[in-house]
Amino acid sequence: TVLRAEHIWLDGKLMKWDEGNVHVMTHALHYGLGVFEGIRAYKTHDGRLAVFRLREHIRRLLDSAHIIMLQIPYSEDELVEATVDLLRKQKQQFANGAYLRPVAFMGDGAMGLGAVNPTRVGITAWDWGAYLGDKGIKEGIRAKVSSFTRNHVNVNMVRGKITGQYVNSILAKREAVLAGYDEAILLDISGFVAEASGENIFLVNKKGVIKTPPLSSPVLDGITRDTVLKLLRDAGHTTIEEVTVTRDALYIANEVFFTGTAAEITPVREVDNRQIGDGKPGPISKYVQDTYFRVVRGQEARYADWLTYV
Ligand code: PMP
Repeated sequence: TVLRAEHIWLDGKLMKWDEGNVHVMTHALHYGLGVFEGIRAYKTHDGRLAVFRLREHIRRLLDSAHIIMLQIPYSEDELVEATVDLLRKQKQQFANGAYLRPVAFMGDGAMGLGAVNPTRVGITAWDWGAYLGDKGIKEGIRAKVSSFTRNHVNVNMVRGKITGQYVNSILAKREAVLAGYDEAILLDISGFVAEASGENIFLVNKKGVIKTPPLSSPVLDGITRDTVLKLLRDAGHTTIEEVTVTRDALYIANEVFFTGTAAEITPVREVDNRQIGDGKPGPISKYVQDTYFRVVRGQEARYADWLTYV
């Protein structure tokens, strides 16, 4: 399906979708110097529209830009407001929720790696269902450990969500899908589990210990990862470890699940053709998924601060 909405926000202005174009000489198109975010807005239980952890996403966008020394000519508040404005303008179309994509990149002007051109900033919203499929989010997906390695932390700037870095993710994703799997799991250069092509990863082992690779490994500091850790700790789970994970620990885990704004909480029912647990989403995965959906829909008063109503 072709993506389409009524409006976009580009360089400070709301405009018609078709007007949101850039030149083929856009520097970032050639060299990948850009940053982006993926954010979701949900229809809340009382019929309103709320963006989940908007400010944290905008802050990460600004941090990503800082890392690659990309000047963004808008403040955090301005970008938060622009995102809300874009949704407000299209409230009818997105009454059931939306996926939001702020992107900032080096525009056209000079060419070459030493060029410094004005930064372009766009925000788009569109309808995006379950990223790994409706069946996947309910029943779990099949993942494959990739032949592609996550870049070393001094090669990729892993605290940043940087456009050019996603070639590595795309290579892994395509390889997995072409081989008949739903998603790729990437290892770091030492062979330890890092993350999926666009999600962080969690496992629950046979002793009930919940594990996820630490932020010192080449993984994005996922906002959903952070949300899930908080939800689990607040629910009284004390056996949560941010530790190095080996690929065979995934094979013998009771549960594996992915976390991400697009993928939300997606259970993994198979890794490298080894069934995980009994091949169905386990109790912790289900608890996390249910709670996450209650939180984003405004049904958990305790986490009301995470919602920005449109
Ligand atoms: N890792 C990668 C490589 C990603 O692209 C994403 C999606 N932004 C994530 C993890 C999950 O991050 P978040 O929960 O903030 O969406």
